[in-house]
Amino acid sequence: MTERVDAAALSRAREQAAAAERVIVKAGTNSLTDAESNLDDEKLDKLVDDIESLLSRGKEVMLVSSGAVGAGIGRIDHDTETVEKSQALSTVGQSHLMHRYTESFARYDRKVAQILITEHDLDNPERFTNFRNTVETLLDWGIVPIINENDAVATEELQIGDNDMISASIAIGVGVDLLVTLTDVGGVYTGNPKEDPDAEHIPVVGENYGEVEDVVTESSTGGFGGIQTKVSGARDVSEHGIPAIIAKSTEPDVLRKVAEAESVGTIFVPINGETDD
Ligand code: GLU
Repeated sequence: MTERVDAAALSRAREQAAAAERVIVKAGTNSLTDAESNLDDEKLDKLVDDIESLLSRGKEVMLVSSGAVGAGIGRIDHDTETVEKSQALSTVGQSHLMHRYTESFARYDRKVAQILITEHDLDNPERFTNFRNTVETLLDWGIVPIINENDAVATEELQIGDNDMISASIAIGVGVDLLVTLTDVGGVYTGNPKEDPDAEHIPVVGENYGEVEDVVTESSTGGFGGIQTKVSGARDVSEHGIPAIIAKSTEPDVLRKVAEAESVGTIFVPINGETDD
């Protein structure tokens, strides 16, 4: 399934990803919480260490972080039986999450900022301009913007796991050079690697997108924030000439590897509008 992406295009994409000056990193709930849904200090510190490996190279980084609902569940004794409960849990978890990010980035003397947005803010040109101005100012100040959907006022994402699409929209709208989506699987596979031991890793997506989309649709359980939304977000971004990578959050030095053009996860080569579907 990789033969239709030529080796030169792949190596150009890796070099382009490595050279990115502005990067958006998206981290999912599984990359931040443990089996009991407590915020996992080790996982969070590892993510921050990985981001530091980009910042210390002089790159600008924006983080789109899920985990608010997850962290809320670990914090108070309530479940996500209703959307209203999930919303309330997110508000408990979000402040806890930001507290931990603040502490973890302080190990490197870095400061962070919280931005909560909704899909409607991104769709509205005036609000989007305001959002972009805030982000530009923060990046200018050397502060790491940490973005999540405002679950207290928007419920779309609690139902479909929309941070994948939000990070893609921001990547395109704000103008970044690379999107990295960190998740609990090592990229895109020919099946669901959690259930199918024969599922093969797909290292690169380009002209093979149509086939990749088919296998992903087939293997997806349709669950919250699954591989499908990650693949479609990465594809949107690559269609705007921006490389996108889906990789495993537990992979050692995952972002340093990206910055050094090593092979990691699945890379979507920039296709500048040319699609085969
Ligand atoms: N905003 C949700 C949370 O922080 C996550 C939704 C998603 O993963 O897309 O828990």
